[in-house]
This record gives sequence, C-alpha cells and structure tokens, in this order.
Amino acid sequence: MNDFLPTGIQLTYLVAASLFILGLKKLGSPATARQGNVVAAVGMLLAIVATLLDQQVLNYEMILLGLAIGSGIGAIAAYKVQMTEMPQMVGLLNGLGGAASALVAVAEFWRLLSHGEPVALDVNISILLDVLIGGVTFTGSMLAFAKLQGLISGSPITFPLQQPINVSLLLAYFVGSGFLLMSPDNLPVFLGVVAVSLLLGVLFVIPIGGGDMPVVISLLNSLSGIAAAAAGFVVMNNMLIIAGALVGASGLILTEIMCKAMNRTLFSVLFSAFGGASAGGAAGGTGGAAGDKAVRSIDAEEGAMMLGYARSVVIVPGYGMAVAQAQHSVRELADQLERMGVEVKYAIHPVAGRMPGHMNVLLAEANVPYTQLYDMEDINTQFDQTDVALIIGANDVVNPAARTDEKSPIYGMPILEVDRAKQAIVIKRGMSAGFAGVDNDLFYKEKTTMLFGGAKDMVAKLVSEVKQL
Ligand code: NDP
Repeated sequence: MNDFLPTGIQLTYLVAASLFILGLKKLGSPATARQGNVVAAVGMLLAIVATLLDQQVLNYEMILLGLAIGSGIGAIAAYKVQMTEMPQMVGLLNGLGGAASALVAVAEFWRLLSHGEPVALDVNISILLDVLIGGVTFTGSMLAFAKLQGLISGSPITFPLQQPINVSLLLAYFVGSGFLLMSPDNLPVFLGVVAVSLLLGVLFVIPIGGGDMPVVISLLNSLSGIAAAAAGFVVMNNMLIIAGALVGASGLILTEIMCKAMNRTLFSVLFSAFGGASAGGAAGGTGGAAGDKAVRSIDAEEGAMMLGYARSVVIVPGYGMAVAQAQHSVRELADQLERMGVEVKYAIHPVAGRMPGHMNVLLAEANVPYTQLYDMEDINTQFDQTDVALIIGANDVVNPAARTDEKSPIYGMPILEVDRAKQAIVIKRGMSAGFAGVDNDLFYKEKTTMLFGGAKDMVAKLVSEVKQL
C-alpha cells in the first residue's frame, strides 16, 4: 500500500491537472462554461483527496477542523453575496489565497529554523519569492476590496515621493533576501522581508483607482496563482505548482484582455494613477452634474412604441441591469419584440458591470441565447443600421467622451458606439454618473431619450406596453 501510494498520488495529480486544463478550455465558451466549471471542480476534488491521502499529512483532525470552518464561512459568504458585490468577493478570495501561500512559506521557514535543518538554495529562493508575491497579493487585494466596497475612497491616492519610496522598498526586499540566501537562519531579517512585502502590496494598489480596478483585480488574481505555484515549490507539491501556474497564466491573459478593453497598457495602469481627482471610483461615482443641459425624457408607452415599431434593436446592458436583477425581464422584452418581427441583439462591453463577464453571466442565467450576444468590435460596425439602441443601466461603457474628450479620465477606452444608432433609449433612475464618476454627453444628444426608473420596473412596464401594441 505504502509503495503504491506515492505513484497513485502522482497519477491522480496528473488526472486532476488534465481536468483543470479541460475545464479551462470549456470555460472559453458560454455554451460549455458550466460544464467546464464542473470538470475543473472534479479535478480539484481529486487533487484534494489525493493530497489528504499523502502519508506526509500528519494531522487529519486539524485539517478537518480547518475544512469545516473554511467551508462554513465560504458557504455563508457565497449564499449572502450579491451579484453586484462579486468583484469585492473575488478580491477578498484572491487576498486569502495570497495569504495562505505566504503562510506556507513562513511555516516552512519556521520549521527549518526550529529544527536547525540546512536550507537548500532552491527552497530558500522559493520561500522568499512566495513571501513577496503572497504578501503583495494579500494586502493589495484587501485594499482593492476596501476600495470596491466603498470602505475607503475608490479614487487613486497619491503622495509625494511615491515611486522613490516604492523602489526603495523593493530594493530593501532584495537586499534582505540576498542576506537571507547567505544566512537563512536570521529571523529578524526574515520578518523584515515579510513586513516589506506586505507594505509593497498596499503601496502597489493605493495609487490605482477609478476605471482601472478591473485590471487590478485580474492582475491580483494572477498573482495569487503565482504565489500558490511558489508555495508548491516550497513544499515540493506538483499539484500546487500546476494549479498555481494555470491560475497565474489565465489571470495574466484576463489582465491583458481587460487592458485592451480599457485601451491601456499594464504599465500605465500600475504607474500613472489613472482617474485622478475627477474619477469618482466605486465609492464616489455619483456626481454627474447635468448643469444647464437639457435631456428629453419619455414614458414607457412612448418607449414601447419606438421599440415595437423598430426593425432592429440592440440592447446594451450595464451595471444598473445587474443591480436591479432585470435580466429576466430583459429577456422577456426581447422575446416579445422578436415575436413582433423585431431583430434583437445584445451588445456586450468587456468591462460592463463590475466583473469580467458580468453581463454574459447574467444573460446566461436568463437563458438568453448566446448567439444573440455580440462583442464590442462586432456590434460597433452595426450601430449605423440599428433603429433603436436600448441602454439598460449602462453609462461609462457608452460614454462618447471616451472618444472625443481628451481630458476625460475614460478617454481612450473603447466604447459601445450607441450614439451612431438612429435612436437611443437610456433606462436609468436619474442623472447619476457611473463608476468612473463622469458626466455622459450621450444623455443630452438629440437622438437620445431618457426613460427614468429602476431597470427592473421599467423593463417590466415596457413588456406590458409592447404587448398592447
Ligand atoms: P456604470 O457604473 O458606468 O453605470 C451604471 C449606471 O447604472 C449608473 O449611471 C446608474 O445611474 C445606473 N443604475 C444603477 N442602479 C440602477 C437601477 N436599479 N436601475 C437602472 N439604472 C441603474 O456601468 P457600466 O456597466 O456602463 O460600466 C462599468 C464601469 O465599472 C466601468 O467604468 C468599468 O471600468 C467599471 N468596473 C468594471 C469592472 C469589471 O470587471 N467589469 C470592475 C470594476 C469596475 P442611476 O443611479 O442614475 O440610475
């Protein structure tokens, strides 16, 4: 049995790793995403069971206790969290992943120190990298969580000598690490390296805000994977290395996609304090002074006429649809319009809502056929031939200032060009700004009409009015 165990564990790890890769592949399309989730979860279950059977695992009672407490907290959090709070939740989970990985490194350092065992160079390097990446991920993610939750201002926070301080801290980390490579048993220096790593995480996220938070969250997600891979090298666990590397790589791909969606480079996100004072961020983005500009407001009956007599309608969902949980009513409206011979499409902006894929998830939940969902590049060429663009709780992702106003904090971000449609109807409750905290000229354009109200109620009213046409 004992001889078989290590081989059996490695083989199970191999199967689990294959399932992870298969799961990731399936997650690439909305049609197979749910299946992909299940496949990857089965892989993780196999990996956990194999690890628990490992003879090096000494204390099952502690593991079971940890499992019970962790699962309990996780289940309650997953049950309670609102869909709109998912970015914060993801931020928190990334942070805890980073903390867990860093703690593995600290525990291994402690174990080697207390046993007076010699530390191999590769293990030592892995411990130091794990402390840095895990520590940065932990405090950076906690700060991102606080920003997104509105516990602190979502705007970029800058102060004099910020970059020189960051560089000095990074240097201090490398000097401390170099010292530890030569004399690995120095506890005060090790604790100093841990403290510097934690501080770097705070300083890394503090100047980032406004519309750049999606990029930060996906980057921290990637870092949590890399930290797990480093922890895998510390305890020499192949499964942890593979799983961490997959999370790290896919997180990096997502970061690249988010950067493209915002038309930003990763460098400028990290080092240019995007958003400045004018970007309100999650907590403060409710300005949107209308000034003396006038908007044209209509009621549901007029809106229904415009939609019902159109040939083509493009629905643009945004954060407001998510908050109102209006996706089912939206589907009902689309179905009703299609029955009346209107061609209906959905335009999906990659950063609409508050998490990557937010709109896809909600519309899939309402069973909207994914063939009706169009990416930004595909739908933007079609707005010229669209009779009505129906914007439901979206704001920043349809703001023409991103194209025209060089001073706007969202300048350069590709948007859904709804202002090219023959008519635009905007459903929102008032004139509040979106996440980036900037006013939207779209609302004042001649072709735009405002349908003021909560997304769910207003779409339900549209459904009943359209039925009476
Ligand atoms: P926005 O945040 O720009 O705008 C949402 C609009 O919805 C608001 O103007 C608000 O106006 C309206 N709204 C709120 N509640 C309701 C409701 N119940 N019914 C109707 N309308 C409502 O959303 P977008 O989706 O256009 O843009 C997303 C923004 O979030 C981007 O700036 C993006 O960078 C950022 N972001 C995206 C993340 C991602 O990963 N996708 C993560 C973090 C940030 P009013 O109050 O007047 O109703």
